[in-house]
Amino acid sequence: MDQENKMEQEMKEATGRVVRMTAANLQLRAFAVESKYIVEYARKAHETSPVATAALGRLLSAGAMMGAMLKNQQDLLTLQIKCDGPIRGLTVTADAKGNVKGYVNVPRFEGFARPDHKLDVGGALGYGTLTVIKDLGLKEPFAGTTELLTGEIAEDLTYYFATSEQTPSSVGLGVLLNKEDGSVRQAGGFLIQVMPEAKDEVIDVLEQNLSGIQSVTALLEDGCDAVQMLERILAGLDPQLEQESPCRFACDCSREKIEKVLLSLGEKDLSDLSEGKDDVEVKCHFCNSAYRFSPAEIRDMLSAVREGAKGKQ
Ligand SMILES: [Zn+2]
Repeated sequence: MDQENKMEQEMKEATGRVVRMTAANLQLRAFAVESKYIVEYARKAHETSPVATAALGRLLSAGAMMGAMLKNQQDLLTLQIKCDGPIRGLTVTADAKGNVKGYVNVPRFEGFARPDHKLDVGGALGYGTLTVIKDLGLKEPFAGTTELLTGEIAEDLTYYFATSEQTPSSVGLGVLLNKEDGSVRQAGGFLIQVMPEAKDEVIDVLEQNLSGIQSVTALLEDGCDAVQMLERILAGLDPQLEQESPCRFACDCSREKIEKVLLSLGEKDLSDLSEGKDDVEVKCHFCNSAYRFSPAEIRDMLSAVREGAKGKQ
C-alpha cells in the first residue's frame, strides 16, 4: 500500500461516537464522546509527545461534541487556544457531520509529566486564551474569547460556556496513554448543559452525581461507553437517549487546495521557490499530509500567476 492509500485507510479507522441525551424532562442536555481512535490517529499523524497528545486529544473530544451541537449541516466550529506555554497553542475544527481535525503548534514538546504520572496539560499550555468561532453561514461568524482558567481545557470550556454563552455547563475530558509507547489507551468526554428553566432540585442531583465521579478516564477504564457515562452522570434524572452518531478524524485538504495556497504566495515567493533544484514539500497543518511539487510544476504556477497579472493590467 502506498503512503497516500495507507493514510486514507488509517483515517477511515479513526472513528468514534457522539451521543446526545436529555434529562429531567429537557431541563438538562448532555453529550458524550468516545474518541480513542480519533486521538490515536492524531497522535500518529502529528507525532505528538505525551503531553501534546493529551492536550490535542482533549480539544478534539470537545470539538466532536460541540460539532454535534451545531444546528445546520454546513455549520463549522473552530476551537483555538493561544498560549504562552511550550505548546504555544492548538486548533481544532469540527462540523455537524461528525468530522473533526486539529493540530498542536509545538507537537513534540516533551516534559510536563507530574509526580503522580498524570500529564500536566495546564503547565504545558500556561496562560492564554480560548476562542470559539462558529461559522453559521451568516455574514459574520460568531466568536467568543475567554482567558484560560487552568489550561486543563475542560475547566476552560466550562468557563467559556458560563461567561460567553451564559449557559452553566459541566465539561469533562480525558485522555489516558499507555505507559510503554505513549499510544492512546482511553479518550473521551462529556458535556452537560443546564437549561434556564432547570429547577434547583435537578441541579442538586446533577452536582451530587458529578462530585461522585473521579474522572472521564476512570469511567472509561471502568468499562463505560458514552451512553453509560451519561447514565451515571444523569442517574436519578430520567436520562433519555436522543441521538447517537459516528464521528471521525477527517481532513478535507487536497492537492488542489494546497496549490491554491501556493498560488496565493504571489510572484516573488513562487519565483524564489521555482529556482530550487528539489521538490517543494507542503504539509497540511491539520493532518500533516505532505504534498510535493516539482520545480517544473512551480514554474507552471508562476507563469499562471504572471499571466493572471497581465490580464488585470
Ligand atoms: Zn489535511
